[in-house]
Amino acid sequence: MDATPPPKLSIVAPVYNEEESVGLLYRKLVEALDPLPNDYEIILVNDGSRDGTAAVLDALASADEHVVVGHLRRNFGQSAAMQAGFDLATGDVVIAMDADLQNDPADIPLLLAKLDEGFDVVSGWRKDRKDKWLTRVLPSNVANWLISTMTGVRLHDYGCSLKAYRREVLADVTLYGELHRFIPALAYWAGGTVAEVPVTHHSRQFGQSKYGLSRIFRVVLDLIAVKFLLSYSTKPIRIFGQWGCLAGALGSAVLAYLAYVKLILGADIGHRPLLLLGILLVFMAGQFITLGLVAELQARIYYEARGRPVYALRRVVGRGADGP
Ligand code: UDP
Ligand code: MG
Repeated sequence: MDATPPPKLSIVAPVYNEEESVGLLYRKLVEALDPLPNDYEIILVNDGSRDGTAAVLDALASADEHVVVGHLRRNFGQSAAMQAGFDLATGDVVIAMDADLQNDPADIPLLLAKLDEGFDVVSGWRKDRKDKWLTRVLPSNVANWLISTMTGVRLHDYGCSLKAYRREVLADVTLYGELHRFIPALAYWAGGTVAEVPVTHHSRQFGQSKYGLSRIFRVVLDLIAVKFLLSYSTKPIRIFGQWGCLAGALGSAVLAYLAYVKLILGADIGHRPLLLLGILLVFMAGQFITLGLVAELQARIYYEARGRPVYALRRVVGRGADGP
């Protein structure tokens, strides 16, 4: 017999100007969560809404003790609001979703079942997505392909907010920018296992999307940052050093050749463009390598001063301290 109680669930949803949606969202959540054996909490983060959202949320929190509402002082953006929700969450399993009813709370048991198979992160996949094809679905498909290729974590739908995480995995990631979509990749980097399940998706019933096409650029820039973090954040000298060594080798070869022309052949080299190129390459080598060293220092500050290990420990056995 398994005596461990079912994990406590924390549902986290960032809410920005969704006054018509949140009441319905709450009812659908309760409908989905009440039949489950798990204890749960619903964390709604009001991301500086300017409509009636705050009042609706407060009413929900005072009527049901499962509901926890955090009000941010201003609009900080979806990722920051989500992080605020993660920080407030006390559950063993955290389930993030949108508050606009595009994600369906009825899918929560699906995610939990997958998590039970032993995965650390389960990502929703909006297989039949109800958004405009040209401005939303197409850019998103391109982004998913790019992110999958660059991070090595192949998912169909990074952009789907409906995802379930084991708490320990989330503790290791901090969200900046549009980074919430990269959590599966960051979690995988921290040694977590990642799975995907198809989920239902609805078109937006109330209010409007908070995003336009400019999100494409932000996602691409964030991808570059994440790729760098994933590959080189503990050893930045390696990426900068590689370029530095290459530039240095090329530059030295060019200058050695010119020295041979000048000293052995006795020809003039002052007017040769190659001289400029050689000097530039050697100069660049110095720049790259010092940049790498500065980045190394930064990495040390990042990992040491913040007490972040360069590894991720799953559990320790023995010492009377079995457990995560
Ligand atoms: N959201 C937020 N802060 C923002 C923008 C959006 O908390 O600055 C929330 C929004 O209320 C919704 C979720 O993030 O719950 C997703 O936003 P939206 O539906 O506009 O994105 P889309 O589904 O169009 O990608
Ligand atoms: Mg939406």
